[in-house]
Amino acid sequence: MNIHEYQGKAVLKEYGAPVSAGFPALSVAEAVEAAKKLPGPLYVVKSQIHAGGRGKGKFKELPADAKGGVRLAKSIEEVEAHAKEMLGNTLVTLQTGPAGKQVNRLYIEDGSDIAKEFYLSALVDRETSRVAFVVSTEGGMDIEKVAHDTPEKILTFSVDPATGIMPHHGRTVAKALGLSGDQAKQAASVLGQIYAAFVGKDMAMLEINPLIVTTQGQVKCLDAKVSFDSNSLYRHPELMALRDETEEDAKEIEASKYDLAYIALDGTIGCMVNGAGLAMATLDIIQLYGESPANFLDVGGGASEEKVTAAFKIITADPKVKGILVNIFGGIMKCDVIARGVIAAVKAVGLEVPLVVRLEGTNVEEGKEIIRTSGLNVIPADDLDDAAQKIVAAIKKA
Ligand code: GDP
Ligand code: MG
Repeated sequence: MNIHEYQGKAVLKEYGAPVSAGFPALSVAEAVEAAKKLPGPLYVVKSQIHAGGRGKGKFKELPADAKGGVRLAKSIEEVEAHAKEMLGNTLVTLQTGPAGKQVNRLYIEDGSDIAKEFYLSALVDRETSRVAFVVSTEGGMDIEKVAHDTPEKILTFSVDPATGIMPHHGRTVAKALGLSGDQAKQAASVLGQIYAAFVGKDMAMLEINPLIVTTQGQVKCLDAKVSFDSNSLYRHPELMALRDETEEDAKEIEASKYDLAYIALDGTIGCMVNGAGLAMATLDIIQLYGESPANFLDVGGGASEEKVTAAFKIITADPKVKGILVNIFGGIMKCDVIARGVIAAVKAVGLEVPLVVRLEGTNVEEGKEIIRTSGLNVIPADDLDDAAQKIVAAIKKA
């Protein structure tokens, strides 16, 4: 689960990490009120969307030379003018995709005078089963580009969970960033605070880009991109309150209500599959035959008819879907349950695109019979290969 920058900074602050003062704002009036509570004379007006690269982003509705999604303001009037231009408009950044994201919230922050910008992030390294850090002197930049062009400017290390952050980690980071004396101490303590926040809140990723040193010599987290491990959210009810559903795919939210594993993709073939392995194989074979999947939907092992119906409705509601492939290998999942769910959903919402169904496993004959006698225009398939070829051929004809 992703959260907004201002929420991430509030979490970091709980762990003592240095962040600027600031207030979120949902309207121009709130933005002005927020700015009035800050000392000035420099303010930052920051678009709150679940995507990075906001500073260099462009608003769709504004002229190409207009400022981006993170703007400095030197007066409350300027904060107001920026808020008016940004709220409600669509920000396109390298991370939003071409459709962009509508800016519905701003964060009004006390502006910092930046002397140096660094990069610091933490993530779970699955290979070592540890929290790993990535540190670089090249802050405020696209870290993938730094990694590609100048890998020597990136330091990575992982932390033994038994010891946590040790003084030598702090020294290593300070050295990599060229910091000494008091600033080295500050950097080391930020590292400890960030590690504590990461572990304490079960984060999956935390990116601070940039971590800065101000002209007054203060180390600060100027940006915060935080995502939590969704599997651990049950331990953190306070984090669930930070969820902003308007930032998430509506179909994915609907699917999560039914406990379906659903991921929206860019292609044209809607897939309903059971088991992640079979889902992956289905996505691959669709690509092999020259089309791309519109989603990844795993109904799981013991799905009920109601769950299957919900799954099918989610797929048909997607206007990108030009054809549907149901590919079920029933073990615990029974083919007749799938068949009844599909028929119920088709009866409820209609079927305007070709549908290929491949059933195999428990109660397969019963399942096939239900589909055969349903009177619906379903194309039966025998195996995965056959099914993929049939759906690709069907959407080419349609
Ligand atoms: P991002 O573009 O989504 O990564 O958003 P950031 O929060 O990183 O802001 C983008 C850039 O705006 C930063 O890299 C800074 O260069 C600049 N910026 C953000 N806050 C301040 C600030 O308080 N003072 C100054 N001078 N620049 C800032
Ligand atoms: Mg940033």
